[in-house]
Amino acid sequence: MFFKNKPMWGKKTKLKSSYDVVIIGGGLHSLATAYYLSKEHGITDIAIIEKNYIGFGGAGRNTAIVRANQRTRYNVPLYKEALDLWPVLTKELDYNLMFNNCGNLNLMHSEAAMKAARMTIATAQFHGVESHLIDAKQAKELVPALNISEDITFPIHGAMFHPPGGVVRHDAVVWGLAKGCAKNGVQIHQQTEALDIGTRNGKVTSVTTSRGTINTKQVLISAGGYSAALIYDMLGIKLPISVLTIQAMVTQPLKPVLDHVVSSGAYHCYANQTLKGEIATGAHMDPWPNYTTLNTAHYIKHQAEALSEFLPCLRGVRFMRIWGGLADMTPDMAPIMDGNDQVEGFFMDCGWGYFGFKSCSAVGKYMAQFMAGNECPGMLKPFNLNRYQEHKLMGETAALVNYSPDN
Ligand SMILES: Cc1cc2nc3c(=O)[nH]c(=O)nc-3n(C[C@H](O)[C@H](O)[C@H](O)COP(=O)(O)OP(=O)(O)OC[C@H]3O[C@@H](n4cnc5c(N)ncnc54)[C@H](O)[C@@H]3O)c2cc1C
Repeated sequence: MFFKNKPMWGKKTKLKSSYDVVIIGGGLHSLATAYYLSKEHGITDIAIIEKNYIGFGGAGRNTAIVRANQRTRYNVPLYKEALDLWPVLTKELDYNLMFNNCGNLNLMHSEAAMKAARMTIATAQFHGVESHLIDAKQAKELVPALNISEDITFPIHGAMFHPPGGVVRHDAVVWGLAKGCAKNGVQIHQQTEALDIGTRNGKVTSVTTSRGTINTKQVLISAGGYSAALIYDMLGIKLPISVLTIQAMVTQPLKPVLDHVVSSGAYHCYANQTLKGEIATGAHMDPWPNYTTLNTAHYIKHQAEALSEFLPCLRGVRFMRIWGGLADMTPDMAPIMDGNDQVEGFFMDCGWGYFGFKSCSAVGKYMAQFMAGNECPGMLKPFNLNRYQEHKLMGETAALVNYSPDN
């Protein structure tokens, strides 16, 4: 009660009637973009509009995994920069983001998957990202708890080992960036819902919120799973995005047993051990589009079955907590970062699926550059919306599909 209405990152401020920039959504990408706009471009008259509280969306629900071993030449450099930025941000924000580069082990369950991994590794290595193909025995040396026997549903043939990846504490990222924003003069308005964007003569003029209208010439929508619906409702722009639920769980705390992030495309399951000792585990998205964050018995059963096959020492361990969030997924599993020719001053950063945590540090930097200079930086150009009309989809889907046992 003592701290009521006193956010830990700065003072509560009054909502003004105009700002240079309004950012809709108080998630990772909004906070990072506002932070870099204020830090690197001297643009500080910014309002972040959040309908609930900062970190309400995927920002506070993700499983905190960071890595740079994506599939395509457009994605790898962006994710590499994002990975390299965690220690930099920790210092800059003077906030412990708890980056633990424990390494990621991506299990392969067929010779075809091993071949596909070779391509991913070649792309990674070409861009200076450390990634190696190892066999099942070497994987077992790294993770002694792994079951490399032949008598499981998907026997392990080897793994893609990516030592610089790992985990970063997601709440710390939200609070650290919020602190950095507030220090630079950015205003964060929680419990404030963006309802509409006003335009005149093809230019942004205002944002209507649940607490009044704000005049502005620049708006960014980066509202995670809600972005596509907001962009359509407010501006009539249709995006090729499906919104799906993604669920995660943690077990009871255990003694140290897993000191790498382990994932398997075939089992659709990944796991790592948190600093508290819990095994945090996630899966692929639920297969049907919806906006619910509810959990399913099917998911719990699936995780229990998968984990007890490839990490059999977890059999009998209790799940303690479960939650869900929204993943806004595009057909090529790569995001959309763009402006819009028809609406000057409007920017979007969405379609992040389950890649939006690991990318947010670098994306904030480049979205800020985009908005400050009104010109799309080279790093973001391949992620434009037109690629879907021009049939220039990215091959990120292959990063997952190629590793399934059917390929
Ligand atoms: C279970 C789970 C596990 C995941 N694991 C990982 C992982 O390990 N690694 C990884 O990289 N990614 C992961 N992700 C994905 C990642 O969390 C998201 O991609 C990321 O949070 C997207 O960031 P964002 O800033 O775009 O949106 P969010 O963090 O979702 O923030 C959007 C915000 O917009 C607000 N908002 C919506 N509508 C309005 C409105 N009208 N007005 C004002 N505010 C509004 C919401 O309240 C919300 O706070 C996971 C996601 C989930 C759910």
